[in-house]
Order: sequence, then structure tokens, then C-alpha cells
Amino acid sequence: YAEWKGLRVAVLGLSMTGFSAADTLAELGAEVLVVTEKADPEYARLLPVIGVEAHVGPLDTVPSVLADFAPDVVIASPGFPPSHPLIVWALDAGIPLWGDVELAWRVRDKVVRPDGRPADWVLITGTNGKTTTTRLTAEMLVAGGLRAVPVGNIGTPVLDAVRDPSGFDVLVVELSSHQLWYLNRQTGDDALSPHAAVCLNLADDHLEWHGSVDAYRDAKAGVYARTRVACVYNKADAVTREMVEEAEVIEGARAIGFDLGVPGPSDLGVVDGILVDRAFLEERATSALELTTVADLAEQGLAAPHVVSNILAASALARSLGVTPADIHDALERFRLDPHRIQVIAAHRGVTWIDDSKATNPHAAGSSLAAYPGAVWVVGGLLKGVDVTDLVRTRGAAARAAIVIGVERGDIVAAFERHAPTVPLFEVDHTETEDVMARVVELAADVAREGDTVLLAPAAASFDQFASYSDRGERFADAVRAWIADQDDGT
Ligand code: ADP
Repeated sequence: YAEWKGLRVAVLGLSMTGFSAADTLAELGAEVLVVTEKADPEYARLLPVIGVEAHVGPLDTVPSVLADFAPDVVIASPGFPPSHPLIVWALDAGIPLWGDVELAWRVRDKVVRPDGRPADWVLITGTNGKTTTTRLTAEMLVAGGLRAVPVGNIGTPVLDAVRDPSGFDVLVVELSSHQLWYLNRQTGDDALSPHAAVCLNLADDHLEWHGSVDAYRDAKAGVYARTRVACVYNKADAVTREMVEEAEVIEGARAIGFDLGVPGPSDLGVVDGILVDRAFLEERATSALELTTVADLAEQGLAAPHVVSNILAASALARSLGVTPADIHDALERFRLDPHRIQVIAAHRGVTWIDDSKATNPHAAGSSLAAYPGAVWVVGGLLKGVDVTDLVRTRGAAARAAIVIGVERGDIVAAFERHAPTVPLFEVDHTETEDVMARVVELAADVAREGDTVLLAPAAASFDQFASYSDRGERFADAVRAWIADQDDGT
């Protein structure tokens, strides 16, 4: 779009990304109409300041203001599923439909770095590990002297970084499957072409939004389209390799694998407890470059297998931009996992309490149960159309006990009764319990023995009982601390 001035753009949804899109477009001189069911009061207050009109109201049918506006382009917030009436309307009418990431790519040359080139983009997706890997990659790049910033699904709209007047060398973009669904609609010369990309893993999640497992997989696969330098894939997850093989990449792009085993000649992996890179060898007489050791990582709580896996993926991306093994080592020495990701809350009388509230799907919960087999497992919430049977069969059977919470308890209890009938089960019904987490902790403390771990890894979303996964984790942590204080008072 050479000409933004006068372009009629409808922005669907007024969240952080919706606002960043409206603001950017208004600045470019486009005519913008925001259409949203709900409006964050802060953004609603700012719209008149930037000269943008909004329609706020129910969106189960196309509002006449939108139809009358006759947009040239529709930009949808990632919350709108493909089946939403407004999306169906835009598709039927043949109106170009973008997400905020697509808009950010199209305006990326508005701010350029000092050498006159726009920033390189690195794309990160996967069912689990996106945020951790995005932060890791950005910190490795910064350690390597590059001005890099983590953006996208991680919380800062890509547009904010694209418009930042200081300019960046690299944008490390975390993409959800929803954002990728919108991005995948773009083809041709204008479409996003990243320096490097990774799909970390694939397991069932968000099936309600996408409609099917295949649609979810296809959305994720799009991350590799038009990659210029490195397609990073997970050797332990064959589907990610297939995605790279099917992808239309730019000539010269390489496939780089990673997993926890001994690496092949174009892979990163682990040899005798040392993380090594065999893909990006420099002019040295060695056959591999050492990044760090599992023992070093253990000192910082980064040695769980899935975390090591994320570190290898991030290292591959950083190495593709020339970061040295020494700089990667430095970045790792400073790195800490975000809260609610296998976070140790307390160790008390031989029992370790762990908050992995961010395990919002079975695949994530599976990786933490693998790291803590035999834990007292706190599980349940909103399952988002995903089946928990396999998780209960493969991992749940080893649990010391399971404490089941949330609206969809029935499915989980049924899976235990069928596949792991000997595991003691406790249910907490939030409609009848004043403080769910206090009750959970009481039950867990009762059943846990010395040497045990109590693990909150719900395998489900939190919105049935909590404001968010972080709210769920904090309430659990508060309840654990209150219980411990009570015990200590009593002795
Ligand atoms: P995302 O941004 O994809 O949700 P996070 O880094 O926030 O990823 O981690 C989400 C959850 O997934 C955490 O509970 C964590 O323990 C788990 N997890 C992280 N990385 C992986 C991985 N590579 N494989 C499986 N589970 C993972």
C-alpha cells in the first residue's frame, strides 16, 4: 500500500493491538472506524484524541455502520475466530483481511535502523514455550550487541516496536496460532519474510477457535513461509520437520534441528551434559561449539527438559544472527523463568510446592509432570475442546494423588477412573467452596509425604474460576504461604 491516506480501514476489537493498529493508521492518514463489542475505557478515551470513531455494541450481526463504512481493508484483533459473523462477512465480501502483525510488516520501513535497513524479524510459535523462547532469544541477541526486542503475543504490540523512533536491529516476534491464521492469508511479494523462524512443538490446543486439529496445525505451519536464513525445528516433534519440508522458503534458507540428543551435523543438541551447536560452526578446529552445561542451568532452575529444549531453540535463532557461544552463555547466566512457569513457591517439611499455572493445555502439563513424576497433581479448569485422556493415561497414572478443580472436572475424573483407577482423587467444587485454593492446599498437604512435590499444572485455561493464569497461580501461592505460616505458628 503506497497510499495510506484516505484508505478506509475497519479495525475489529479495541484491545492493546487494536488500539496500536488504529493509532498507526490514523497517523498514516487513513480513515479508521473501530468496531468492538467492549472497549477498554482507557483506549476509548484516547480514540477521539487520535481522531478515530468507534462503534461499541453487540457484534452477533454486522452493524450497519460497518456495512455503510464500506472498508477497503479490515484489520481484526486475534480474538476474532474465522467463524465470527464479522470475519465471515469480510471474507464473503472479498475485503482484504489482516491482523496487526501484517500491518506492522507493511509499515516496517517507517522507522529504520542506523544502517538504513528495517529490522530483521525472527518468528516464534508452538503450542508451548513461546514466551520463554522469545525472551531467551531477545536476551541472547542483546548479549550479542544487537538491539533486539521481544514483541507480539508476549504483550507488546509489534507495531509499537516498528514505530519506536530509536529503531531496532531485530524484532523477536512471538506469534499465537490466531495471529498466524491471519498472517497466512497473505501471499506474494508484500507478505512477511522473516530472517529465521521456529515452531517449537505442536499439540492440541485452541481447537474451539480453529475448528479442527488440521486447521490449528496449518496455522502454525505458516510460521516458516518465506524464511530467508534459518528454519529451526524440533527433532523430537516430527510434525515441525514436516512443516519445514512443506514450507515455501527463500532460496538458501537452511533447516536446523534441535533436541536433547546428540546433534547431527546441522543441529543443536546435548552431548554428555553439554549443550552444543553443530549447525553454525565457525572457522575453528572443533566439530561443535559449546554453549553451556546442564549443570550450570540447574543452578538457575533451567534444567527441566522442556526448558533445555527452549534454550536450544533460542540458541539456534540467535546463532543464525551471528551471536557467539560466549554471548549466549552470558545471557543464560542472567536469565530467569517468568512467574507461574514451574516456579518453586516453597519447600516446607520435605514437601516442595510448585506453581506451573501457565500449563494451560495437556502438552504443557505433560512436560512438567515429566519433570516431577509422582507429584500431587492439581489439575482442571476450562479444557478448550481438548481431550485430557492421553495425559491422564500417560502421566497421571504416576501421580501420588490428583486434586481436580474447575467446571470440566467430570472429564478429568472419568479419565482417571478409566486409565488410572488407583490414583487417589479429590474434587473441589468452586460453586460450593469459598476459597478453592485454600481447600486445594489443605487436601494436598494431607496427602503429600516427605520428599513429594505438589504441582499446580492445570492442563486447562483458568477463566472458569480465575481472572487469568497468573491470578490462579498467585492464589495458589498465597494459599500455600498462608498454610505454611499457620503450621509454623502452631508448632
Ligand atoms: P507459551 O508462551 O507458549 O504459553 P511459556 O513459555 O509461557 O509458553 O510456557 C507455557 C507452559 O508450557 C509452561 O507451563 C511451561 O512449563 C510449559 N512449557 C514451556 N516450554 C515447553 C516445551 N518446550 N514443551 C512443553 N511444555 C513447555
